[in-house]
Amino acid sequence: MSEAFFHDDMRWFLEHRVDWASLLRFQGRPQTSVEEEIQTYTAILETADQVCRGLEEQSRLHWHEEAELADGEVKVPLHIAQGYEQLRQAGLLCLPISPAYGGYGLPFLINTFYLEMLARANSSLMTIVGLQTGVAGDIERYGSEDIKQRYLPKLTSGEWQGSMDLTEPNAGSDLGSIVTRVTEDQGRFYVDGEKIFITNGGSQVHLVLARDAATFQKTRGTTLGLSLVLVPAFLPDGTRNRMRVTKVERKMGLHGSPTCAVEFDHAEGFILSRPGQGFRAMLDLMNSARLGVAAQALGVAQAAFEEALAYAKQRVQFDAPIIEQPLVKSMLTQMTINLQAARALLYRTAALVDRLEALRNFLSGEPSESHEALRRELGLLRQTVQLLTPLCKYYATEISNDVTRKAVQIHGGIGYMASSAVAHFHCDSIITTIYEGTSEIQASFALKEMSKGSLFTLFDQVVSDVQALRNSYLEESQRIEEIVDRWIRASLPSLLPDPRYALLNAKRLAEMVIDVVAAVELLHQANRSEGKRLAARSFLERRALAIEMGARRIQSGDARRLERYDKILGILTQPPSNPT
Ligand SMILES: Cc1cc2nc3c(=O)[nH]c(=O)nc-3n(C[C@H](O)[C@H](O)[C@H](O)COP(=O)(O)OP(=O)(O)OC[C@H]3O[C@@H](n4cnc5c(N)ncnc54)[C@H](O)[C@@H]3O)c2cc1C
Repeated sequence: MSEAFFHDDMRWFLEHRVDWASLLRFQGRPQTSVEEEIQTYTAILETADQVCRGLEEQSRLHWHEEAELADGEVKVPLHIAQGYEQLRQAGLLCLPISPAYGGYGLPFLINTFYLEMLARANSSLMTIVGLQTGVAGDIERYGSEDIKQRYLPKLTSGEWQGSMDLTEPNAGSDLGSIVTRVTEDQGRFYVDGEKIFITNGGSQVHLVLARDAATFQKTRGTTLGLSLVLVPAFLPDGTRNRMRVTKVERKMGLHGSPTCAVEFDHAEGFILSRPGQGFRAMLDLMNSARLGVAAQALGVAQAAFEEALAYAKQRVQFDAPIIEQPLVKSMLTQMTINLQAARALLYRTAALVDRLEALRNFLSGEPSESHEALRRELGLLRQTVQLLTPLCKYYATEISNDVTRKAVQIHGGIGYMASSAVAHFHCDSIITTIYEGTSEIQASFALKEMSKGSLFTLFDQVVSDVQALRNSYLEESQRIEEIVDRWIRASLPSLLPDPRYALLNAKRLAEMVIDVVAAVELLHQANRSEGKRLAARSFLERRALAIEMGARRIQSGDARRLERYDKILGILTQPPSNPT
């Protein structure tokens, strides 16, 4: 039997790895019973489990059906529209938004679990629901009370949906190249430009990143001077705004998720945050969306893994089920261990996001000279979350690509057929390493965060975590400490002399850091069962070798490697500018 959508790794994390008591204290609810709080979350996630189970069959049957543009309107396939309605009726929209605006104020962690479950059932539908929550979250944080009252209740009730409009033909990874313009005229704001690849571009509420006309030339090519503008499809007086969807893309996967080109022709909008300060506000949405995509990637990968495991048990070749073949067994084992590692990293990060938010709110109401230790913790938490977010996105999505690819391989020829579920999962997985910032961009961001000191903050936490595990797992703990000192810290001086060499090694370094954090998290779970203990040990053994190899590779080279690449490729290149 396949694992529940609300699976044991989630349940265990919920019950054992979150300091709910201090979270409740920071949230101003110290009297609330932790036990009852966990019971409430469990009940909600069990409801989500039931709904996701019900969505799965239609999602698989109608995977090929494409969202399309009909008479200027975006139409989603029936299974998406019906699925959305089921979620709406079950109250499973915008879970983290405050009850004051119709949400439930649930922790980010609980929403992360939910998005993973939903993506496993229907990855296209998940994109719509995930964005709706993210858009509502940014409005809640940066909108005026009037804007919040106008837009949030309709987003939380599901009457309206949302989109995040960043990408343009010449501004993909490089958002400094945005040329969509926002112009102020007598205190009102108007947007002109074209956005492409916008998920749910037919939605009613668009958060558009646009360059201020007043400083257009001065800020062009940078992320300064960008404003975050809420552009509604209909203006408050009920008239249609001057914007339209000009195209709905056809894609290799995620067919039910509409990916649109949107044109703004002097469309009126409302500034969130302050004019010219939009990039910061959009980063909040992008960071939560990045963790959402990590959850999506893991949901899809879990679905593929379940299929591959079931198939390998029943497919007989050479008189035995193929799972008896050592090569197949090894693939499946690596798939599940990597999935567990990526989950552990994601859940830990999501829990830290909750703590960061709660602590920030708690301290904002206190005099600045009070709670010195908590203020220090807040600073460290901020650094850690900023580093772990791109690492999670990078790792979960790359693991997902690998797991879904292996699931196709385990199915042999039948895995390549148009009707193959695992082929569909693979096609749905590939986009996760691309949108919300590609893997290369995540690795570059992580490198930048590390260079600001967050790596050492993270290592301090790893070391104190490991010390707590020493009594039960002495050998493994010592191994982790040795890896950090002997290989990772020792590699850093080789990266310092030339930023190009550091960038060249950004993925390698990211993977080394991820492996260490994931190993510690798996070790925390080792006493759950023999399987978990062996998984933790196997992960550590395998990744220790990879880390050592990565470190040797970093230490053995310098930026001249890039010149050799030029010669191998037969090109002359100019050094690029770094992502901001
Ligand atoms: C299905 C789908 C849905 C999407 N939904 C949305 C949405 O809702 N809203 C939105 O705004 N956008 C959306 N996008 C756009 C998406 O975020 C971009 O496609 C993505 O950020 C990459 O930009 P790009 O396609 O222009 O690729 P490019 O930026 O041109 O990158 C091409 C390649 O170059 C690499 N590269 C670029 N710069 C660097 C660098 N500095 N260092 C190393 N490598 C680099 C990239 O990693 C990539 O491999 C969506 C895209 C798709 C396909």
